[in-house]
Amino acid sequence: MTSPVSNLLLSALHTETRNSLLKHATPVELPFGTVFFEAGKQPRYMYFLLSGLASIVVTVADGTSAEVSMAGPEAVIGGEHLLGSARIPSHCVMQLSGSALRIHFSQMQSEFAASGELRTLVLRLLQVQFAAVAQIAACNRLHSAEQRLARWLLTAQDKTQATSLKFTHEYLAQMIATQRSTVTVVASELQDRNYIEYTRGTIHILNRAGLETAACACYGVVRHLDSGVRSIVDTERGRGIPHDGSSSAESAGIS
Ligand SMILES: [Zn+2]
Repeated sequence: MTSPVSNLLLSALHTETRNSLLKHATPVELPFGTVFFEAGKQPRYMYFLLSGLASIVVTVADGTSAEVSMAGPEAVIGGEHLLGSARIPSHCVMQLSGSALRIHFSQMQSEFAASGELRTLVLRLLQVQFAAVAQIAACNRLHSAEQRLARWLLTAQDKTQATSLKFTHEYLAQMIATQRSTVTVVASELQDRNYIEYTRGTIHILNRAGLETAACACYGVVRHLDSGVRSIVDTERGRGIPHDGSSSAESAGIS
């Protein structure tokens, strides 16, 4: 099992707050396809990812789906459910196998209510997640499939630190809101330029710089947001958030 501190949110908490959470945590392995929460339903557990990759996906009335957000070992899966009782229409599923620390949702609610430090940090990370969701929504509407696929692969690599990503074309089509046949064409073009190699369901990123030239500017925006998460964590590791949650945005390196 990976060390708990490989989750960025956990690693940013004071030891006292982290230990209070970890008393209730259970380590779990998360195979591909694990569902964290379903559309319109409250999650049973919350997960601090330690490795792997999860996607928040919206399925519309005709059954087609598109990813609206990607989550790696930087946050808590299902954090948006801590904010209220709204019936959230998205679901969240594990896309690259990994592991996590799991806490019962009601226990997490109690910790969230009791700890200003935890509340402040979760809210900051959710703000970043919301900004990334907005960017991806615009990207899916405005940019080409090639740009979106390149952007998606780069972000997936950033979050997992893996050079090989096991995905089918069907899955990638859902992730970038297009048809499977379009992914096949676009992936083939990226492969012809030796940016990626696709073999037996695994994509190997061969030329990151090349892939960045193929991606839209949204990749840089999302990367900047993710680096903001790391700034938050680094700041809190250095200074700590006051336990009354009154730390300003400036103290977390964001504004
Ligand atoms: Zn874009």
